[in-house]
Amino acid sequence: LAQLFRPLDMLGMVYRVIRQGLIDMEAMFRLIDTPSEIRDAPDARPLVVNGGAVAFDNVVFGYEPDRTILNGVSFAVGAGETLAIVGPSGAGKSTIARLLFRFYDPQGGRILIDDQDIAHVTQKSLRGEIGIVPQDTVLFNDSIGYNIAYGREGANAAEIAAAAEGAAIDSFIGILPQGYDTEVGERGLKLSGGEKQRVAIARTLLKNPPVLILDEATSALDSRTEAAIQDTLERIAKRRTTLVIAHRLSTVTGADRIIVLDHGRVAETGTHDQLLAMRGLYADMWARQQAEKEEGTV
Ligand code: ADP
Ligand code: MG
Repeated sequence: LAQLFRPLDMLGMVYRVIRQGLIDMEAMFRLIDTPSEIRDAPDARPLVVNGGAVAFDNVVFGYEPDRTILNGVSFAVGAGETLAIVGPSGAGKSTIARLLFRFYDPQGGRILIDDQDIAHVTQKSLRGEIGIVPQDTVLFNDSIGYNIAYGREGANAAEIAAAAEGAAIDSFIGILPQGYDTEVGERGLKLSGGEKQRVAIARTLLKNPPVLILDEATSALDSRTEAAIQDTLERIAKRRTTLVIAHRLSTVTGADRIIVLDHGRVAETGTHDQLLAMRGLYADMWARQQAEKEEGTV
């Protein structure tokens, strides 16, 4: 049996990544591409979270040497606060999430969680403290209960049910003929985009991380489903440090602070009202999106 499993080592790693609550396939494949780039420092210690304050300190990063994506990005999110990151597509918003999860190391600057440089802590401890709800959630060809349980190894049925309730998908599961044992995915019940995102939220609730990243978590949904899921997300963000990456600005007006990323830098910072008053990039983006909404194109 051991021999059979050896060629599956890579699969095992992928499986563990999923287990740790990372469900973004894009990120998963990136990890496979670059398995040896990021290593624990010889003296790496476990991250000790006390509130989960996050700070980027003059971070410089590019995927390729000749193309800088982040060019001295600094911001701080207090423990339990919500920071929104907005900006044009390709500005580097998801890159910030990947760096915080330490899929890559920055070429300059530091990333801190509760004043600990994440380059000096063990990856396992770091990734255990961060939950991600990506734009598209991948379901496994297994039961819906199993799909939720990916959030945390060894979760029992009561914990899975509580997570489903927190994600407001419990009543949906309740009316399925086989309940939590209902097969989903390719060969099973096809879930809608909104239902899949609720599964992702349930996974995250089960993991219960102090730091939460929502990377365009509702952007693939129609606006009615988005509004419903928005409520759930705001509720789960309340007691955690949350980075919300958003394209639709209407979903982040309530954030404690919003940063506008442009050309590799933080171009503007403030609350929604402060940014509107600046009449800069954010105000332009807001005006454009409001106009589109009126035309009914959003
Ligand atoms: P967004 O703000 O839309 O989330 P990203 O952070 O995903 O932007 O990407 C920022 C830039 O980095 C984009 O120009 C993108 O094409 C580039 N990029 C993203 N991932 C990679 C990669 N693995 N290799 C090279 N370039 C990448
Ligand atoms: Mg992105």
